Amino acid sequence: TDALELRDVVFRYAPDASPALDGVDVTIPRYGHTAIVGPSGAGKTTIFSLLLKFLRPERGDIVLDGRSLENWTLHDLRARIAYVEQDTPLVPGTLRENLVYAAPTANDDDIWRALAAVRMDERVQAMPEGLATDVTTSTLSGGERQRIALARALVVDPELLLLDEVTAQLDGLTEAAVAAGIRRQAERGAVITIAHRLSTILDADQIVVLEAGRVRAVGNHRELLDAD
Ligand code: ADP
Ligand code: ADP
Repeated sequence: TDALELRDVVFRYAPDASPALDGVDVTIPRYGHTAIVGPSGAGKTTIFSLLLKFLRPERGDIVLDGRSLENWTLHDLRARIAYVEQDTPLVPGTLRENLVYAAPTANDDDIWRALAAVRMDERVQAMPEGLATDVTTSTLSGGERQRIALARALVVDPELLLLDEVTAQLDGLTEAAVAAGIRRQAERGAVITIAHRLSTILDADQIVVLEAGRVRAVGNHRELLDAD
């Protein structure tokens, strides 16, 4: 069965505003990477806000694991959905503290795996006592902070991982490593990215093209190219 379904979802930010989402139907498979693309203002971020229950649909339904989002408690939802955006705040402290904060039951192997997936493991290994002393978040560059935010989501091993433009500020080599981390997570659960980078989009199993609050096309990049 599918992990997630948006069924005829309508949402507007004010009663007299035009809809930010205007009858959106999307099915997200249990495994794989779905990229949502579209011009600024298309409604991409609004979809994430609805999935996280920051907002409620005006019409239609969002169904996670066969159950309407209406019937999920925020607590149960947060255990299944991880969300990373650009400039996600970190907990002041060590990298390990950040990861354990997100996943209290994570062991050292889990932490190494998540750090390796974003290519931050070498940084920690260079410390005299490795994970025992660790690196504090205050010494990180912007790109490194972004990678730790992502590692913190990966260590949770979420059923649904929402990534809003997380590779935008990474250099090419790091982006490639992070893309591999995202691919691996897509074998363990559903990953939805809001993407501008062509490489991220080409990597996706499913691309949802959104325009003015409506789904214009769905498919992998070959299907979308054929359709034009
Ligand atoms: P995208 O992420 O694709 O750029 P958004 O989901 O942010 O698009 O925005 C969709 C539409 O909703 C746009 O017309 C935008 O102006 C409007 N919108 C977004 N956030 C708000 C808000 N907080 N208040 C009012 N309108 C908003
Ligand atoms: P996978 O095998 O899932 O592709 P990795 O290649 O990232 O994962 O890591 C393989 C194993 O090696 C993991 O169990 C991880 O705990 C361990 N590992 C990864 N990086 C390091 C590291 N820098 N130091 C110690 N152990 C590591």
